[in-house]
Parts: sequence; C-alpha cells; structure tokens
Amino acid sequence: MLSIIFLFAFMTLVSARPLVLPAATPLAARSDHRTAQSTLSNSTSKLHTLNDLYLGNEKFRQTARIQADKLAEESPPFMFLGCVDNRLNPSTIFNAPAGSVISHNNIANQYSSKDLSAEAAIAHAIESLHVQHIIILGHYGCKGVETAITNSNKAARLVKDWVKPISDLYATSRRREIVRLRDSRLPQRGKDNGVKSPPPADDAGFRALVEENVKKGVKELRKHSILTKAYSSASKSNESIDVFVHGLVYDEVTGEVHDLHISFGPPGKQIPHIPFKAIAAAKNIHRNKDRPGISTGKTWNFGGAN
Ligand SMILES: [Zn+2]
Repeated sequence: MLSIIFLFAFMTLVSARPLVLPAATPLAARSDHRTAQSTLSNSTSKLHTLNDLYLGNEKFRQTARIQADKLAEESPPFMFLGCVDNRLNPSTIFNAPAGSVISHNNIANQYSSKDLSAEAAIAHAIESLHVQHIIILGHYGCKGVETAITNSNKAARLVKDWVKPISDLYATSRRREIVRLRDSRLPQRGKDNGVKSPPPADDAGFRALVEENVKKGVKELRKHSILTKAYSSASKSNESIDVFVHGLVYDEVTGEVHDLHISFGPPGKQIPHIPFKAIAAAKNIHRNKDRPGISTGKTWNFGGAN
C-alpha cells in the first residue's frame, strides 16, 4: 500500500513543473465573492471533453507568448505545496505570470520528511530552480481534511490512510474551535453514533483544522527537510541560501489568502514582509479566559526564526 501512495505522490511530482498560463489569467485573489465565483464558472463551464482540452490549447497557443528558452533561464520565485482538490491552482489564485510558480500537490497539502516525492520536489526547487519562497497552501473546505474529520466509510482506504496524520491532529488538538467541533460530533445521549455528516466548509473548527494542518507541515519542513541541511551547509561555507517558508490558507468563497504567521528562513535573515492578513486565532493567542475548560494549549514555537 505504501508503494501505491508513493506512486501517487510521484505522479504529483511529475506535474511539478513551471505552470504556463495565458498572461490574462483571471484574478481570483480578491475580497470579492462574486469575482471568485464568476472566475470558477467561466474557467470550467466548457471543459468536459478531450476536444475541449484541444480547443483550449489551440486558443492558448494563439494568445500566449511562450518563450521557452527564456522560461528555462529564469528561476521561478515561488514553490507551492498545495492540495489536489483545490480547484484553483496558485497561478490562478495569485494571477501569476507564466513561469513564476511551480507546484507540488498531494491530498490536503501535507508535508512529511518520509514523503520522498515531496522531499525530491523541494530539493529540485531549491537546488536546481533556486526558488526563493516555499509556501504550504491550505484551503478551507478541503475534502482531504474533511475526510480526516468524518473518517467516512465512503472514502477510499488509501485516502483515509493518507490523511491519518490530520485525523490524529483532529483527535488531539486543543485549539478551541477544533475542540468544539470534536465535542459537537461525539455521540450524545439518545444518539448512538454521533454526527457522521461532514461539517460545513465555514465551520470554525473545520477551518481551524485546515490551518493547523498547514502549520504542522511548516513545522515539519523546519525540522526535517532538505532546507535544514541547506541552511547549515550555507552557513558553514558562507554561502547564502535565501529560501523562506510560509504557511498560507486560501478561502475559496472570498478568494482571500490568509497568513498563518509561521514563516521561517535562514538563521539570521529577516523574514520578508508578508502583506496577507494574519489569522489571529491560528497564532494561538487566545487568552485563557477565552478558552473555558481548556488548558493552555501547546503553541508552535517559531520564535527562533525571526
Ligand atoms: Zn484539499
């Protein structure tokens, strides 16, 4: 089974190449519900058959000015570790010019040092493509995170195994919103099985779990990834590897992107200004009186990164 997961992850790695989009890609990253919705409907309404793909490519070739040689020479500044079921890719969300973004996806944008595909993609991004920012991009309403909550029998065993780390996070998190969601789904008196249906995408606990999953990925990246070796070897040789890691979450309803305030970079380097609005709750800055019945939760300590 593990090999199948690796095969799946490898397939996502194969797609981890610079994304080439028409320059006039619609902008979805606005605080405008209607803009995000209309972008979705316009971009997908006619794409059903292989012939639709062919016609789309024909149109793309006519309108996009692809300079393959130039693209090959330029380094993409950004690498995204995203989710398979996020229907909008980072190039669309950030209105990215051709060649400026590469992506590596898996279900629920997870990172683990045991994921050879992700490790290889990150190594390639740093050493060969010289990216400057690695961003774990979660998204609210994520079906992978939803599966981790519901543990639905309808989900494939492989998928449930893949999201097991998020299930564990859900089961053990002491973040207020997640505790409330967990409690609300427990079997109650007179109801034997508890709540089995998925929570709505705007449920505070569901959103919090999406955020905590991104934070977990960034924490893992900080501890175990090739970045650690790169920072270490760079400091010994006085070379500079200015790669920064960030955790962001995309809101599919509003189109907004939120910062989880967990960025890190090379030791001694100032984290670049992050203009995206930070999520206060995700920073675990609740005062104790706001957390009735919950002991002070474990906070992520990224203090040494700044
Ligand atoms: Zn997802």
